[in-house]
Amino acid sequence: MSILKNVDPLIYELTQNELERQTNHLEMIASENFTYPAVMEAMGSVFTNKYAEGYPNKRYYGGCEFADKVEQLAIDRACELFGCNYANVQPNSGSQANQGVYQALLKPFDKILGMDLSQGGHLTHGSKVSSSGKTYSSFFYGVDENGRIDYEKVMEIAKIVKPKLIVCGASAYPREINFEKFRVIADEVGAYLFADIAHIAGLVAADEHPSPFPHCHIVSSTTHKTLRGPRGGLIMTNDEDIAKKVNSAIFPGIQGGPLVHVIAAKAVGFAENLKPEWKEYAKDVKANTKKLSDVLLKRGYDVVSGGTDNHLILVSFLDKTFSGKEADIALGNAGITVNKNTVPGETRSPFVTSGVRIGAAALTARGMKTEQFEIIANKIADVLDDIENVDLQAKIKQEMKELASNFIIYDRPTY
Ligand SMILES: *Cc1c(COP(=O)(O)O)cnc(C)c1O
Repeated sequence: MSILKNVDPLIYELTQNELERQTNHLEMIASENFTYPAVMEAMGSVFTNKYAEGYPNKRYYGGCEFADKVEQLAIDRACELFGCNYANVQPNSGSQANQGVYQALLKPFDKILGMDLSQGGHLTHGSKVSSSGKTYSSFFYGVDENGRIDYEKVMEIAKIVKPKLIVCGASAYPREINFEKFRVIADEVGAYLFADIAHIAGLVAADEHPSPFPHCHIVSSTTHKTLRGPRGGLIMTNDEDIAKKVNSAIFPGIQGGPLVHVIAAKAVGFAENLKPEWKEYAKDVKANTKKLSDVLLKRGYDVVSGGTDNHLILVSFLDKTFSGKEADIALGNAGITVNKNTVPGETRSPFVTSGVRIGAAALTARGMKTEQFEIIANKIADVLDDIENVDLQAKIKQEMKELASNFIIYDRPTY
């Protein structure tokens, strides 16, 4: 049945182990999801063999007639989905999409203002360990003591820094982002406004989070987080001049031949996002996250900002004796995969932290509803309440495996 099984049994076995892991554990890492089998089929298609440097109908290689159609479909569907005029579907990842945005609009040492990594931002928003922080002069804003972006404070910082570009969007921010307010700030200081919607794109596509258009000059995203498509990046704009600069920045600026098989898979994913059912999925994601938040609040946990508007929550343990790292490990032992995360007012190092980030997108893709999330949230609280109890963790691990077994997502053995 499986060709891989015969050709490379070692890799085959590892994919089976991974499938089992994904099936038996509760995946609650906020940046992960379960993509569609059709997306995986497109990703595994013959388009992986094709070089297609350039853009549709402007290629450097022959034989691109079908690759052209694939990429144009992906572009058209992305534009329809997000209500914009131009899309570049070639970035290999979210980070490369962001690198492309900066390369299109900035020169080295230009000033950028982004959200601090420790406050919920992403490495590519100017962190010193990322090329964004090495190539450009980066400055940061954060959240207030309630865990929310203080737009007046952002305005104050922007007026002092006078950045050429402001980045909004985050990796660990449980509240809505007000793009309109960011645009007022950008206009006040004459900066480009760049929204990185990597985390919330699936909600934006369903109108379950306000759109960055028409407020932002340029928008980037991943396609594999809440959007539930293949692993990859995306850049969008309504400005023709910016679109041209982005295209040259991605190719030949930072990438070579595009991953046509992944672009095909992006097109398949966007088609799923355009279906009426997508709206239901996004609504379920939000309802499930809210349930998680409500239960943990009721159980006495400090949910940052007092709740959530999107697909994730941050739980702070600043008032507890244990760290984010310890919570992460204890929950892992109980079959619940989350990640440790810094929280507002953080007192520990990024390797230890005082919080965890928990997301609902992946389990919602498996078909779980608020009923299951109520059970899971209570189990999370049970583990945290008695964090050193490894017997309890083992017991819950078994229970979670049983719960998960009712929500099988990939039933074909070759995945
Ligand atoms: C995940 C993420 C990225 C990077 O995406 P990769 O595909 O992992 O490179 C960029 N920006 C934000 C806000 C993210 O959350």
